[in-house]
Amino acid sequence: MENYDRIVEKISKKSGLEKEEIERRIEAKRAKLSGLISREGAAQVVAAELGISFDNEKLKLEELLPGMRKVNTVGKVMNVSPVRTFKTKKGDDGKVVNLFIADDTSNIKVVLWDTNHISLVENKKIGEGIVVEIANGAMRENELHLGSFSEIKITNETINEVNTGKVFRTKNISELKNSDNARVRAFIVQSFEPRFFYVCPSCRKKAVQENGNFTCAEHGKVAGEKRALMNVILDDGTETIRAVAFHDNLKDLGITEFENPGEMIVQKENMLGREMAFYGIMRNNKMFNTPEFIIERAEEIDADLLISELENN
Ligand SMILES: [Zn+2]
Repeated sequence: MENYDRIVEKISKKSGLEKEEIERRIEAKRAKLSGLISREGAAQVVAAELGISFDNEKLKLEELLPGMRKVNTVGKVMNVSPVRTFKTKKGDDGKVVNLFIADDTSNIKVVLWDTNHISLVENKKIGEGIVVEIANGAMRENELHLGSFSEIKITNETINEVNTGKVFRTKNISELKNSDNARVRAFIVQSFEPRFFYVCPSCRKKAVQENGNFTCAEHGKVAGEKRALMNVILDDGTETIRAVAFHDNLKDLGITEFENPGEMIVQKENMLGREMAFYGIMRNNKMFNTPEFIIERAEEIDADLLISELENN
């Protein structure tokens, strides 16, 4: 089940309203805000208006959303960063530690600011493999922050399966920030000519062409493998963004005929106006100093889901 559906179900259960009614209110809220808010964000606003809070309810990591307060959750510590020290504005010594925790649904960065919490890390009470219970945390963007009013303790709950995969959070294009891993649902509204480059077959790094030969910095003279990349413009109604897809991911967009320019033109035409779910990461393009969405995967929009969304409108 998608995160959004889970939230709708929770609101429905707590309010006693039908799921369809909740979704109608969420869409109305989004329309009112000209789509400037994500579905999940709008769901939170609707929940708040209904007097529903998720405070003090134990949530799965996948359910945590930016802006949530009084977050309670449980996760297994996968990784601990070294303790960093810094000077506070008052000139005192401050400390901060990041934990990376996971459960069966997702994973998240937890930031500890309180010296009592940090001492649990310093004394090796909390470390890799330990399951921790967190109370009263606050979401800042997509991180869970724990201050002096928060709690973190070791629990004997067990978490066997952990999802440590890259987390792609559903966002509007207007909400994307540098280094966000995001899922964006958008239309391909423009495409550019593909560009080609060559890679070393062993290490996949760029191979330099010289007098018809290819050299890899590590492997010397190699047979260069031809790869393609293509820029497209995505539009989700909130904003447009330049995106780039590399060789293997271009297949997801229906581009396969790299050696046949005629066929490729047809494929490019077919791609325009298509709506898909794009998974990727936001980067700053160094050459142009502009934000760019690197597509790691693209999926068809589930037709059944689309129909049910249309029926609900
Ligand atoms: Zn190489």
